[in-house]
Amino acid sequence: SKEDVQAFLKKNAFVLFTVGAVIVGIVLGFALRPYKMTYREVKYFSFPGELLMRMLQMLVLPLLISSLITGMAALDSKASGKMGMRAVIYYMTTTFIAVFIGIIIVLIIHPGKGSKDEFGKQQTIEQVSPADAFLDLIRNMFPPNLVQACTQQFKTKYGKRVVHVTVTVNDTFFNSTNGTQEVTEITREEVIPVPGQVNGVNALGLVVFSMCFGLIIGNMKEQGQLLRDFFDSLNEAIMRLVAIIMWYAPIGILFLIAGKIVEMDDLTQMGGQLGMYTITVIIGLLIHGVLILPTLYFVITRQNPFIFIGGLLQALVTALGTSSSSATLPVTFKCLEENNRIDKRITRFVLPVGATINMDGTALYEALAAIFIAQVNNMEMNFGQIITISITATAASIGAAGIPQAGLVTMVIVLTSVGLPTDDITLIIAVDWFLDRLRTTTNVLGDSIGAGIVEFLSRHELRSKDVEMGNSVLEE
Ligand code: ASP
Repeated sequence: SKEDVQAFLKKNAFVLFTVGAVIVGIVLGFALRPYKMTYREVKYFSFPGELLMRMLQMLVLPLLISSLITGMAALDSKASGKMGMRAVIYYMTTTFIAVFIGIIIVLIIHPGKGSKDEFGKQQTIEQVSPADAFLDLIRNMFPPNLVQACTQQFKTKYGKRVVHVTVTVNDTFFNSTNGTQEVTEITREEVIPVPGQVNGVNALGLVVFSMCFGLIIGNMKEQGQLLRDFFDSLNEAIMRLVAIIMWYAPIGILFLIAGKIVEMDDLTQMGGQLGMYTITVIIGLLIHGVLILPTLYFVITRQNPFIFIGGLLQALVTALGTSSSSATLPVTFKCLEENNRIDKRITRFVLPVGATINMDGTALYEALAAIFIAQVNNMEMNFGQIITISITATAASIGAAGIPQAGLVTMVIVLTSVGLPTDDITLIIAVDWFLDRLRTTTNVLGDSIGAGIVEFLSRHELRSKDVEMGNSVLEE
């Protein structure tokens, strides 16, 4: 009836807006492509999208810190130890499954044909040894200066300027914020992303610090009360800001997507190996996101995974629009806590860590891409090398920051570990912006399903904690 329709619209307005935004964004983007906007014009056009990106990023830092600290402080060390264990087992298992799928699918479809001519010219990429990269990962866990960790570029030895761009002057590059970008003038056709320099937070370091800090103040009895209250209330305030930004999100997402489609390269190359490669990645991500993760969720919780995923739609679309799991974090929180009713003690604890280190899509992608590059170079990978790729792809996905195209940067580790030419990363750059969005969506899905599973497995601890605290316990 009419009332039903109205009630439905009211309840799902956000979701409808957001999904509508994606569709309108795609249509608008393709409609505007024939006008061949200059780089500057594209920048102006995508401005509303840039604003959304900035608003979300603005919240990431306080949200990450306050949620982790309150999350850890709300649990005693035994409970958080158990939950932490569960989360880590979930992260490891799903990441390995993802890598496995990536490898199998690229071996079966075999998109690379051992000829590089069709890719055009390549650039030079800095070499790194896996050992350096690994040490960087550990280094980043312990930022010597906390304030700097909140502001620094995500900096690793290999993260600086992966692609050296030489350009001819045509249209002035509208460089608004990022002082690190070397290029000041650039032709529209030659815009090559400089990965690893978008968001300025060393998330890994802050995660480690906040977890320890939260655990400590959780154990401090009355002396810790002030700090517990402070971070609790900070967290609440930030979530209210998130609620406001969510109203703007559909507009931002529309322009982020439309802007990207307007500026993307022509798809003429896509017929060949690159096209096959793109399809292979899409199939891999679909298998993981639509088949494996929902099945896992169902097997463990016995609940309908697609209802759970329905509650996440907005977060998934935001991931698609921003290609950053850390910028999506505020929305992920909202969806899980409000739509899916996941216990805050779980989300606060699991989501920030997940957004930082658990990246199924990235792991799948990196393993797949490395083997694709081997295929293009006519190199057969033996079993040992494939194992090496699985391990380094896992490490690389942990090390990748939740920012656009970070996975492309950390792929250097994977390639170096099996002696593949790192310069060949440039072969796949043309499609990376697109695949990045898809893998980010998979990453966010993996984190969210993880929160659902960890909550289910921890229901007894949560309940006994409730009883101990005298909270009202809902009947099952
Ligand atoms: N953009 C991805 C994310 O934020 C990371 C990647 O580049 O794979 O999750």
